[in-house]
Amino acid sequence: MGIEYQLQYNVCAAAICMVILWMYFTQKKTKEVHNVIFMALVICTMVAALVNIPGTLDKLDPEFLPRAVQILVDYLHACLLNLPPVLFAFYAVTVVRGSIRNVKWYWKLMLLVPQTIVLLLWLTNPLTGWLFDYTERGSFYHGPMQPILYVVAFYYVVVGVGYVLLEKKHSNRRIKISVCAYMGISCLATLLQYFFPALLLRHIGMAIGELIVFLNLQKPDEYLDSELKIYNRKVFEKIVNLNLEAGKGMNVFVLQIENLNFIVQNFGVENRTKVLIQVAEFMDRISQQNTYYFNDGLFVIMQPENKKMGAYQARVRARFAQMWQLDDGDILLNYKMMQYAIPQDVKNLKELYFCHSAFTKLTADGNHEVDIKSIDLQKAERRIKVTQIIRHAIVNDYFQMYYQPIYSVAKGRMVSAEALIRLIDPEEGFIPPDEFIPIAEENGMILQIGSMILEKVFRFIKEWDIRKLGLEYIEINLSVVQCMQKEMSEMILQMLKQYNIEKEMVNLEITETAMVDSPTVVMQNMQDLYQEGVSWSLDDFGTGYSNISAMASWPLTIIKFDKTLVDMVSGHEKGSEIIRSAVNMVKKMGYKIVAEGVEQESQLEIMKQAEVDYIQGYYFSKPLPEEQFIAYIKEKNGIEG
Ligand code: C2E
Ligand code: CA
Ligand code: CA
Repeated sequence: MGIEYQLQYNVCAAAICMVILWMYFTQKKTKEVHNVIFMALVICTMVAALVNIPGTLDKLDPEFLPRAVQILVDYLHACLLNLPPVLFAFYAVTVVRGSIRNVKWYWKLMLLVPQTIVLLLWLTNPLTGWLFDYTERGSFYHGPMQPILYVVAFYYVVVGVGYVLLEKKHSNRRIKISVCAYMGISCLATLLQYFFPALLLRHIGMAIGELIVFLNLQKPDEYLDSELKIYNRKVFEKIVNLNLEAGKGMNVFVLQIENLNFIVQNFGVENRTKVLIQVAEFMDRISQQNTYYFNDGLFVIMQPENKKMGAYQARVRARFAQMWQLDDGDILLNYKMMQYAIPQDVKNLKELYFCHSAFTKLTADGNHEVDIKSIDLQKAERRIKVTQIIRHAIVNDYFQMYYQPIYSVAKGRMVSAEALIRLIDPEEGFIPPDEFIPIAEENGMILQIGSMILEKVFRFIKEWDIRKLGLEYIEINLSVVQCMQKEMSEMILQMLKQYNIEKEMVNLEITETAMVDSPTVVMQNMQDLYQEGVSWSLDDFGTGYSNISAMASWPLTIIKFDKTLVDMVSGHEKGSEIIRSAVNMVKKMGYKIVAEGVEQESQLEIMKQAEVDYIQGYYFSKPLPEEQFIAYIKEKNGIEG
C-alpha cells in the first residue's frame, strides 16, 4: 500500500491560478515588466500543479503513464518546481525598481547565478542522475542533489523578500506585506510537504501567495482612473521616472478641456463624466492606449522620444470641431493643447508639474495651442512654492496683522488704521501680500485667510479697546473672492456680534474690480452690511476704470486715492491740478478721501491744500505690528499710560 497523495490540493492550486489569470486578462493593465513576470509566475504555478498530478499517479501505479511520457513529466515538473520562486524574486525586484536594469550588479548576480546552476543540473541529469533517476524496473527515486532544488527555491524567495525590505526607498508597506505573506505561506506549505509527502501543499501554498500578491499589488484601481478607465497620474509618474533613470527621452502631448465647470453648472455632474469618458476613449484610441488622465479635464499622451507627435494636434482639432454627446443634446468642447519633450523642455517630474500648472492657467492662441516656450518654469515653480507656504501658514497660523495709521487733517491726529496682512514663513522669510493674495484667491484659500483676518482684527479691536486711543475705526481689506460669497455679510455680522464690536468700528475696503466683476452679489453684501452700520471704502482709486458715475450707486463712504495718483503730485506741474479737481469732484459726491502712500512732507502739504480728509503713508508710519502700533498711536495721540 503506497502513500495516499492528496491530489485535490493540486487541483485547487490550478483552479486558483486560473481565476487569477482570468481576472488578470480581463482587466486593463500597464505594459510594465513586472506585469509580464507576474503573468508568467501564475502560468508556471498552474502548469506545475497540473503536471504534478499525472506524475504523482504514476508513482502510485508505475503503469499509469507510458515510460517516455513519465520521463517528460518528471523533467517538466523538476523544472517547474523551481521556476516560480525565481519568477517571484524577479517580480519582487521589478515591482520595486521597475526594471532589472535599475538593479545594482550584485543583486543581478544573486538573481542569476543559482538558477544557472540549477539549469545545468537539470540539463545534465539524464547523464548524472543527480536530481532524480529511475531504477532498472522503472521506478522513480531522488538523486543526491535533489535537496538543492529546495534550497535554491527557498533562496529565491528570500532574495525577493530581502530586496523589497532592503530597498526601503523604493518599496512601500503594501509591497512588503504582500511579499512577506507570499514567503510565509509558500515556505510553510513546502516544509509541510517535505515532512508529510502525502500532503501536496506546495503548489496551493504558492497559488494562495500569488492570489494575495495579486489582490494587493495588481489592482486596477491603482493605475486606472476609476471613472474613465484609462491610466492615471501615478502610472505616468512611475514611467517617467523609470525612463529618466534609464536615460530615455519622451514626447508628451497635453490636452485640457476647459468648459467642464460650465457643463457641471448647466447640465449636472453626470454629464461632465459622460463627456470626459468620450474624450478619454478618443484620446486612448489615437494614442494606442498611451493616454493618462490627471484631473480637471487634463489628458496627457506620452510616447517614446522617437515617436512623432505632430498628428495628435490635427486629430484633436478635427474631432473637437464636432459635437460631444450629453444626456439630452450635444455640446462643443473648449480645449487647449501643448507639446513638449522630456528632458529637453522639461527636465523632471517636478518641472513637469510646474509646467502643467502654468498651462492650465494660460489662455491658448486661436489655434488652441500653448507654446511650451511661453511658460516661465521659474514663475510656475514659485507659484507652487507659495501655495505650499500659504497652506503651511494656515495650518500653523503664521499670518500676522500689521496696522498702518491714518491721519485726519481736520482733527490733527490719528483716527484710524488699515489692517494689512503679513506672512513670514520660517524658512522662506517674508512673502509680500501682493504675491500671495492673488494665489490664495485663485485656489480659494483666501476664504479661510479672509475669515482669519477678520477674527484677528476683531480680537485686536476688542483687546486694546482702541476707541480709548482715539481710533474711530479700522479698515479691513476684502478680496474680490470673499465679496462674491453670498453668505459673506451674514458671516461678518455674526462675527461682529460674537466679538461684541460696534459695527461703526469697522470699515471694509473693496476694489473697483470686485464691484465690476460680480455686481449683484457684491452689491447685496455691501448693502446688507451698510444698512447694519458697517461702512465701505473704495480702494486703489485712480488705477482701474475709476468710473465715477457708476460709483454713485454703491454704498461707499470713503474713496482711497492710490499711491500712483499721489505720486503724480511730485511728478509734474499738472499733478497738483489733477489731484485738486479729482478731490473736488469726489467730495462733491459726498465721499471722504484718504490719500495713500504719502511719503514726503511736500506731498502731505499738497494733499492738505487740496483738502484731502485723511492721510496714510510712510510719512507717518509704515504698517506696524500690534504692540508697536499701539505704542505709536499712544505717543502721537498723546495718550497716557
Ligand atoms: P493696498 O490695500 O493698496 O494696501 C496699501 C499698500 O501700500 C500696503 O502694501 C502698504 O504697506 C503700502 N503703503 C502704505 N503706505 C506706503 C508708502 O508710503 N509708500 C509705499 N511704497 N507703500 C506704502 P502691502 O501691505 O504690501 O499690501 C499690498 C496689497 O496686498 C494691499 O494693497 C492689498 O491689496 C493686499 N492686502 C494686504 N493686506 C491684505 C488683507 O489683509 N486682505 C486682503 N484681501 N488684501 C490685503
Ligand atoms: Ca487697502
Ligand atoms: Ca490701496
